[in-house]
Amino acid sequence: MSSAAVTPEIKRVNFARHPLEATLRGNFDGEILFGAADRGRYATDASIYQIMPVGVVVPRTAKAAAIAMQIAAEAGVPILPRGAGTSQCGQTVGAALVIDNSKYLNGILDFDPAAQRIRVEPGMVLDHLNARLKKHGLWYPVDVSTSAQATIGGMAGNNSCGSRSIVYGNMVHNVAAIDAILADGCQERFGEWRESELPGRSQRFRELASGLRQICEREHDEIAKRFPPLLRRVAGYNLDIFAPRDPLHYHSEAPNLAHMLVGSEGTLAYFQSLYLKLSPLPAHKTLGVVNFPSFHQAMDSAQHIVKLGPSAVELVDRTMIELARNNPAFRPVIDAALIGEPDAILLVEFSGDEEAALVRKLDDLDALMGDLVLSKSVVKMTHAGAQKSLWDVRKAGLNIMMSMKGEGKPVSFIEDCCVPLEHLADYTRRLTEVFEKNGTRGTWYAHASVGTLHVRPILNMKSDGAQKMRAIAEEAAELVREYKGVYSGEHGDGLVRSEWIAPFFGPKLTQALGEIKALFDPDNLMNPGKIVRPSKQDERSLFRFPPGYATPPDASQLDWRTDFGERGLAAAAEMCNNNGHCRKFDAGTMCPSYRVTRDETHLTRGRANTLRQALSGQIAGGLAGEAVREAMDLCVGCKGCKRECPTGVDMAKMKIEYLHQYKKEHGYSLRDRLVAYLPRYAPWFAKVSGLINFIQEIPGTSGLRDSFAGFSAKRTLPRWSKIYSLSPGQGERARVRGTSLQESGAPHPSLLARGHPVPLSGGQGVSRREVALFADTFNNYFESENLRAAMDVLQHAGYEVHITSAKESSRPLCCGRTFLATGMIAEAKKEARRTLDALKPYVEKGVPIVGLEPSCLLTLRDEFAALFPGEETRALAAQAFLFEEFLVREKQAGRLQLRFAEGETRQALLHGHCHQKAFGVMGSVEEVLSWIPGLSTTPIESSCCGMAGAFGYEAEHYEVSMAMGELSLLPAVRSSPSDTLIVADGTSCRHQIHDGTQRAAQHVAVVLAAALQP
Ligand SMILES: Cc1cc2nc3c(=O)[nH]c(=O)nc-3n(C[C@H](O)[C@H](O)[C@H](O)COP(=O)(O)OP(=O)(O)OC[C@H]3O[C@@H](n4cnc5c(N)ncnc54)[C@H](O)[C@@H]3O)c2cc1C
Ligand code: SF4
Ligand code: SF4
Repeated sequence: MSSAAVTPEIKRVNFARHPLEATLRGNFDGEILFGAADRGRYATDASIYQIMPVGVVVPRTAKAAAIAMQIAAEAGVPILPRGAGTSQCGQTVGAALVIDNSKYLNGILDFDPAAQRIRVEPGMVLDHLNARLKKHGLWYPVDVSTSAQATIGGMAGNNSCGSRSIVYGNMVHNVAAIDAILADGCQERFGEWRESELPGRSQRFRELASGLRQICEREHDEIAKRFPPLLRRVAGYNLDIFAPRDPLHYHSEAPNLAHMLVGSEGTLAYFQSLYLKLSPLPAHKTLGVVNFPSFHQAMDSAQHIVKLGPSAVELVDRTMIELARNNPAFRPVIDAALIGEPDAILLVEFSGDEEAALVRKLDDLDALMGDLVLSKSVVKMTHAGAQKSLWDVRKAGLNIMMSMKGEGKPVSFIEDCCVPLEHLADYTRRLTEVFEKNGTRGTWYAHASVGTLHVRPILNMKSDGAQKMRAIAEEAAELVREYKGVYSGEHGDGLVRSEWIAPFFGPKLTQALGEIKALFDPDNLMNPGKIVRPSKQDERSLFRFPPGYATPPDASQLDWRTDFGERGLAAAAEMCNNNGHCRKFDAGTMCPSYRVTRDETHLTRGRANTLRQALSGQIAGGLAGEAVREAMDLCVGCKGCKRECPTGVDMAKMKIEYLHQYKKEHGYSLRDRLVAYLPRYAPWFAKVSGLINFIQEIPGTSGLRDSFAGFSAKRTLPRWSKIYSLSPGQGERARVRGTSLQESGAPHPSLLARGHPVPLSGGQGVSRREVALFADTFNNYFESENLRAAMDVLQHAGYEVHITSAKESSRPLCCGRTFLATGMIAEAKKEARRTLDALKPYVEKGVPIVGLEPSCLLTLRDEFAALFPGEETRALAAQAFLFEEFLVREKQAGRLQLRFAEGETRQALLHGHCHQKAFGVMGSVEEVLSWIPGLSTTPIESSCCGMAGAFGYEAEHYEVSMAMGELSLLPAVRSSPSDTLIVADGTSCRHQIHDGTQRAAQHVAVVLAAALQP
């Protein structure tokens, strides 16, 4: 798509940079982001809204944050504190100076394990905190589903609540005090409030404290009337802090002024640090999964189940069960929890210090269900691993739902209403009828224990969504009122629910909220428009897809339409709902560039937002513009997001589209061409491999490489292969102990150039023992010992191995990856066409095609379909296997017989190539390694190695590349004993391991071949 084709139809972006930027520069310690693209990346949260901020600052110190506030306040610019930006209600977006605490202000300030108290900075992520607390037997128990991203500051801002709130309460029950700054610069500690302490405090504080007390006491009766005695009430400010109305009570001794700040959504003050109450980690947990034949029965049972004293009761409905079953990772987990085909399940958890007592609780649950005429409906889980897997599915609930494609999306606006448990069944039934009346449906899940069920009607916010939202919201509010419930029971008010505070709180309390806001923030500078004086929830000009939102006709080069319809790439980019799941540091791959930079720019979410805004003309330049280039620069195309992003945002594929467009407009560099055309010139270089290797090693040539072509001088270049014979039995096999393969002596041209296809068995189809070995450029010309090893293993197992090659030339087949990696889609298509034609006879005969290099072989399964959508590529994909996948498949079919020599005990460390992980095939590598006697394998919990094809060679990316490797892979290799075998199937990964640790890693084929019985 050409940038000129993009019509900037919506004019919500002021491209001019705000003068505040100039004042900040020179006075502020941190990052100052005022460009349109940066602001665009902070214009959304996980809600339906989008508002461009004035600018963004990322302070390095608490003092810098205070300075930014002061400068903004003096300029009359509103202030918006931000954590991970995972809010669902729009409370994290606004035309303000955004202060992002998540990158630097995330430390522990004080910790007293004995007193179970800790003080943290606002950007501390919950999971990171709990990881630090674990060894002390403690945890911070507000276990929100976004625990891997949510910051303590944001959680306090929203008065967040976790699955176990029935025991531990919400944030308001677990925050002891807050050090806060007000917009006028006043810095105060808000905590327990005692009249006797007032004389020692500042005049401003005394005014605040007495003002609050006066307002709340004045409204005591109204508060008692309007605040139902429910745990899950997060609407407005906590006006009941002097006489708590919730069942767990906020405080035991004295009123706590911090509790007025908790849930204030950044509208009263900026939190500098938070004093938290910790809880002992329960020693044991058991889980009972109750299977219900009807949703109504599940809802009706919750009120009885809570009497057993569970720590959580969570709902998963039929739709969610089905969506989870569609996900290959979740399917076995959810299946293990089901009895037959239930309409809903409740996850009932018991926790405590005595395991036997918790097991008895499961029996009690069983008995209770028998009394409720539902005997044999409970699946009991006592194993911690099984419980965790099921909780992970439940935690992914919303994300699973958001994976829905098409213009209709589940929208959050009544997703956390809370009603007393005795009305839960009726409430959910009647609300479902409201959905039906409005021509939509919703999926129910989450916190049955406290009457807060998440439900998101499916609406098209680009067409009639706003009207339907209003109609449903009105009726839902009526129901909640009738059942004496709470309209905002978990996620906050923000832009979507603040207008509903007045109808629920009434005029007197609404006025009281305004008075409190004026006490703290008389100039209305702190996150205006939330809670007090809000806009309408259906104010479409504030939507992410406002009236006039449009993208030009899809001109993408890869196939997006099969999945996303006519709008193609634009619709794919819009799949990002900003839930922030990619801001993670735990297991998995996504997103290596964020893991090392912690920048929104270098995050899958930031990239998707930039693409969406560029494609819709909201930022200049379209796909070929500077903003997209900057956002895509550090994307290593690892496909981590393809697998791990809950909505399946496939940024690696989007990067190919961007590169294509960008390079078309800006031209290809020499480096691009050297990388892209490698498969084409490799046969010529191979002929003079000795000479090239010699030149590469001449001192000084690396510097030339850097200045001449932009390849980092700090990198070693891959060595061109010596040539090996393919005849089985020739050459001495490497032992697991690990010497390299021996050269056989017989000079051959390259493996493939030599290997014209063995004619396929003719006649009646193919024998089951034939296999086609796809020799990729890297293993063919740089590490042909891998191909040789694969040949050995396959022939040892009795397979007839065909070496795939093109009919018309001796140049090996190529998957086109190097062309894709540089955006040369037309060239990649040529290679794919050639490969498809050459492999056709194998595909037609049902001969499995086996490859060694994950990125190459998996291109046949993935990008080929995007280049040539249709049956031809589907058929090839179904038959293309990685070497280890093929072996496991054959073993499972009883066709594989490999004999291994008895070996001494040996350790192996295994690093997975990102694309192997993206396709979920690492289990096969582990399995084949487990066949080797004496070998014990430990997978390294690593993200991308950082090399990522040519990325790590590029001079400007060297540091980032090494930083990615240093996250976990390189330290793990370094700290392993020198005789530990390092296994890595990716050519780039092996190279990175070598450069970073000077240790040699091996392809699994080499390891297997070396372990075979001679
Ligand atoms: C998939 C999904 C699942 C979710 N599950 C849950 C759940 O189980 N329970 C739950 O309660 N919520 C849930 N949420 C909502 C959200 O994740 C939580 O509210 C979370 O605690 C917000 O943290 P954050 O760091 O992203 O805050 P942000 O969204 O960045 O900020 C939240 C609010 O706090 C304010 N704020 C942030 N930092 C400060 C500060 N330093 N000083 C003053 N104010 C500040 C912001 O201005 C904003 O109003 C979910 C959201 C998603 C997308
Ligand atoms: S890219 Fe995926 S994981 Fe990241 S915020 Fe968007 S939808 Fe969530
Ligand atoms: S492909 Fe990898 S680096 Fe790029 S956005 Fe996805 S997870 Fe991040």
